[in-house]
Amino acid sequence: MPIDPRLPYDENNVFAKILRGEIPSKKVYEDDFAFAFHDINPQAPVHVLVIPKAAYVSWDDFTLKASDAEIAGFTRAVGRVTRELELDQPGYRLMVNMGGHGHQEVPHLHVHIFGGRQFRVMIG
Ligand code: IMP
Repeated sequence: MPIDPRLPYDENNVFAKILRGEIPSKKVYEDDFAFAFHDINPQAPVHVLVIPKAAYVSWDDFTLKASDAEIAGFTRAVGRVTRELELDQPGYRLMVNMGGHGHQEVPHLHVHIFGGRQFRVMIG
């Protein structure tokens, strides 16, 4: 079920548990701002999620409340992950689902990185 992004941050969401090490994940990258791991239900040969270490429900929450340093650090981390996975040639797709219409299911901001195949122009 899509989340209501206006709700307060839920400390027991699955990505909060991954950050606390309470449930396992296949880690790809970590720094002061971000943690990246393989999606449990991959939709492409490469499907990695990058999440901020701080508690933000959604893209909207993040861009409203995060400091410029956090936004810069997180954005740069996404770029580092794509380069470490050698996706920059021939390319990749980034996606952020936000709220109900965006079909966001996990209430901790996450950027999807998809790679390893050609994607279609349209979104579903
Ligand atoms: P959303 O629809 O943008 O919120 O995407 C949530 C993503 O989290 C989906 O692609 C799920 O497969 C993924 N996911 C949910 N639980 C886990 C987990 O425990 N580990 C890794 N990925 C997960």
